Amino acid sequence: AKEAGRGLWKRFHPSMQHQVEDRFLLEGELRKALELDQLRLYLQPKNNAQGQIYGCESLLRWAHPEKGLIPPDVFIPLAEETGLILQLGDWVLQQTLALAVRYPELEFAVNISPREFRNPDFVARIQSRLAASQANPERLTLEVTEGLLITDFQQSSERMLELQKLGIRFSIDDFGTGYSSLSYLKKLPINELKIDRSFVRGLPQDSSDALLVETMMAVAQHLELQVVAEGVETPEQREFLLSVGCTHHQGYLYGQPQPAQVFLDRYQTDQQ
Ligand code: C2E
Ligand code: CA
Ligand code: CA
Ligand code: CA
Repeated sequence: AKEAGRGLWKRFHPSMQHQVEDRFLLEGELRKALELDQLRLYLQPKNNAQGQIYGCESLLRWAHPEKGLIPPDVFIPLAEETGLILQLGDWVLQQTLALAVRYPELEFAVNISPREFRNPDFVARIQSRLAASQANPERLTLEVTEGLLITDFQQSSERMLELQKLGIRFSIDDFGTGYSSLSYLKKLPINELKIDRSFVRGLPQDSSDALLVETMMAVAQHLELQVVAEGVETPEQREFLLSVGCTHHQGYLYGQPQPAQVFLDRYQTDQQ
């Protein structure tokens, strides 16, 4: 094992060492990000067939003092590995619930990472945050990924059922990218499928994307699930989606993620 370890080290390129050091530094800084108030909640609108905003998704950003705004793809995986995601996820949930109380007509979606979902106190934490905030559970959607649900099917369905009893909705994020077994959909308490933007990108020209989206719509209809398409960027994509019965959209065509208060102020102004 020692030999193998040394061999590995030899093949270790200097640039990789920098990456490791960067990661190490970043991890330490991420630990402090919460105390130092460097996390930012962004919201992206979800629109219905009439083009009206009916809800939004919470997306995390890290306002790093030197590196600027760091996107979640950079630090969420790190947080997931180190367990910091438990604190970050709890922060996002609390921030989101506080906003949900102020905008009871909007649906708020929060991303739940596998490590959060599998944590033994997941259900209790959501319940206690809901109780403390007085937010309406029916306005909260939890976005989870396919892989997470399949790894421990029994536990997943129990946890989901418990929360669904309170009125919380479950959405399958990045639908279509992971495990292709559709049988689990029928067995889990799911409310919504979120079509991954990799299938939306090629619409309407790419015939295999078009076929896949139509198939997902048929599956959803059969199982009586709602569908949201993500990554909707063009009017042509919008038209195609509407033509196959997909009425709920999220994407740059409607709005980029914005700082929560900026988004909500604009939303408020548009309502008047
Ligand atoms: P996701 O949950 O699939 O979120 C959608 C991502 O697509 C967001 O990237 C959003 O900004 C981007 N997006 C939305 N509309 C468009 C579009 O029209 N075109 C394109 N090209 N992109 C679009 P973002 O904000 O960088 O987040 C990346 C991922 O990081 C999220 O993917 C999610 O998996 C994760 N993430 C973000 N916030 C949280 C969080 O609070 N907790 C957890 N566990 N994960 C989070
Ligand atoms: Ca999501
Ligand atoms: Ca997604
Ligand atoms: Ca995605």
